[in-house]
Amino acid sequence: MLHPTHYDVIVIGGGHAGTEAALAAARTGARTLLLSHNIETIGQMSCNPAIGGIGKGHLVKEIDALGGAMAQAADRAGIQWRTLNASKGPAVRATRCQADRALYKAAIRRIVETQPNLELFQQAVDDLILEGGRVTGVVTQMGLSFRARAVVLTAGTFLAGKIHIGQAQYAGGRAGDPPASTLAQKLRELPVAADRLKTGTPPRIDLRSINFTGLEEQPGDDPAPVFSYLGSRADHPRQVSCWITHTTEHTHEVIRGALDRSPLYTGQIEGIGPRYCPSIEDKVVRFAEKSSHQIFIEPEGLDTFEVYPNGISTSLPYDVQLALVHSIKGFENAHITRPGYAIEYDYFDPRGLHPWLETKTIPGLYFAGQINGTTGYEEAGAQGLIAGLNAALAVQGKAPWYPRRDEAYIGVLIDDLTSNGTIEPYRMFTSRAEYRLHLREDNADLRLTETGHALGVVLQSRFDALRAKRDAVERETQRLGTLWAAPNNALGAAIERQLGIAVSRETNALDLLRRPELDYAKITSVVELGPAVENDDVAAQVEVQTKYAGYLERQREEIERRRRHEQTAIPGGFDYDKVRGLSAEVLLKLKRAQPETIGQAARISGVTPAAISLLLVHLKRRA
Ligand code: FAD
Repeated sequence: MLHPTHYDVIVIGGGHAGTEAALAAARTGARTLLLSHNIETIGQMSCNPAIGGIGKGHLVKEIDALGGAMAQAADRAGIQWRTLNASKGPAVRATRCQADRALYKAAIRRIVETQPNLELFQQAVDDLILEGGRVTGVVTQMGLSFRARAVVLTAGTFLAGKIHIGQAQYAGGRAGDPPASTLAQKLRELPVAADRLKTGTPPRIDLRSINFTGLEEQPGDDPAPVFSYLGSRADHPRQVSCWITHTTEHTHEVIRGALDRSPLYTGQIEGIGPRYCPSIEDKVVRFAEKSSHQIFIEPEGLDTFEVYPNGISTSLPYDVQLALVHSIKGFENAHITRPGYAIEYDYFDPRGLHPWLETKTIPGLYFAGQINGTTGYEEAGAQGLIAGLNAALAVQGKAPWYPRRDEAYIGVLIDDLTSNGTIEPYRMFTSRAEYRLHLREDNADLRLTETGHALGVVLQSRFDALRAKRDAVERETQRLGTLWAAPNNALGAAIERQLGIAVSRETNALDLLRRPELDYAKITSVVELGPAVENDDVAAQVEVQTKYAGYLERQREEIERRRRHEQTAIPGGFDYDKVRGLSAEVLLKLKRAQPETIGQAARISGVTPAAISLLLVHLKRRA
């Protein structure tokens, strides 16, 4: 069969950004091609097989709320589930699962292969076709040309990827995969600013060679949390435990004694690594006062004996890796199945992107994932979805869309990157968001699904599920509001008897729910206040919206206040020299960043509120 070569959208790379990009574009009806080095590695997790965590779990829920694949795949692959920060407030609670690497990849592949409007092709892309300054297609390694009206590049750690193990170094996209060197070279010729970053991974270990005696077991939560709003616990495979061990003084001696052979410290690695996921040699040097570091022993899957020792990422020479592994409790006789390594790769300054992730200099070309300076599957998937959606919207002649900072962590991520750029691999944390109480895991669907449906990226069935949930929350909140207890009525007596609290004045069930010592389950355990709704998500929503109503309202007002200025546009090519009173530093920063809105300008570090006022006055005068 002749291969059709004209598409609406082409996505380069079948990692976490690429699969979400291709799926999002195809869901909107755009004819989409996903081109990747190897179809077998679609959805492959390059490092730790885990999805979610603090800040990252929020992104997964938002990807799901917009119809993406990551949460559904995690539900089918998660073998140990936890809610992190479970004892803290709802804003920072986060879901995390250890995934079976093979099951995750299989789930993503199934979703990709069954997506209408999406075709797959296995080939390395070596070049982009540019005509009249815009991208119009790609050329593969064997010289095939594919045409498209928009191209999304999601090449991950593969662009000019260089792997380091001690002094040994070789070209690679990740262990076992070739780099994308020709494409990297071509991209360096384009007007997009590139630099180098690095990341690393620990050696893997054969579980049968570990002595678990005396190590701490960490079972998952029971009941296990679920990622997708459409998922259920029944989707989860068999559950297993993780384990915890620690490095010893001897481990640290081994590492200190080998720093002169560490590519990180000899200057061999130039790229900056992830601050929040440092290598073990970095931790030993930076936190010299600590005599031990925690290591999570995490299974790689149900049908493999390999485990991932989370916490000892390293690029030290192999003989040192062996010695340091053997110095850890339980690992005395451990067999390493794969050495740890670091990888350096090209990334592009994300300030060269519009907030809808199209490059500013090459219309029709979108960037997403690790190549924008981020680290993590979730950060990559979130960008992929936005880039793929916007590529499709552009092809369909529609306006771009991206969430604001007060709407989604995806909005925070994109705004941080495109306004401020990054000089080290960027990962998401809840602390990066100003409006945490609004941006909870439990309400990502309420925040985003309706918009996603209007944009064509959310299917009708998901939208119907959202409406049903919204109605159920509304009905239950109203029902509780009509149940009045008083000192002298039957409900008051029932509450006093069953909850052991005094009802001293007339109060309804919502007032009771606001009391810190009570929650939805306790309230509805009072027969006269029940029956409770069966859907846990609905119950959680009723509880959070009631308990935090005051704080939520105050935050909403603050959002409104900021939003009035946030969206004020700064015209392209705006002459900052004409704004009177700006300091030389602020002037330099604004000229360099070229923000598109007042909101973006305000978040550039060093740009003061006073400078923003001057800018607003000037813009008003011009209007
Ligand atoms: P990738 O997952 O890298 O996918 C890129 C895809 O593009 C691949 O399928 C590749 O084959 C394809 N591709 C590339 N170039 C071409 C081309 N020219 N033609 C066709 N196909 C192409 N994240 C963390 O959060 N914590 C960590 O500790 C961590 N450690 C890591 C350690 C290592 C060694 C590596 C490699 C990654 C690590 N990561 C870590 C990062 C995590 O793997 C990435 O953030 C995530 O995979 C990025 O997703 P992506 O889709 O941008 O790219």
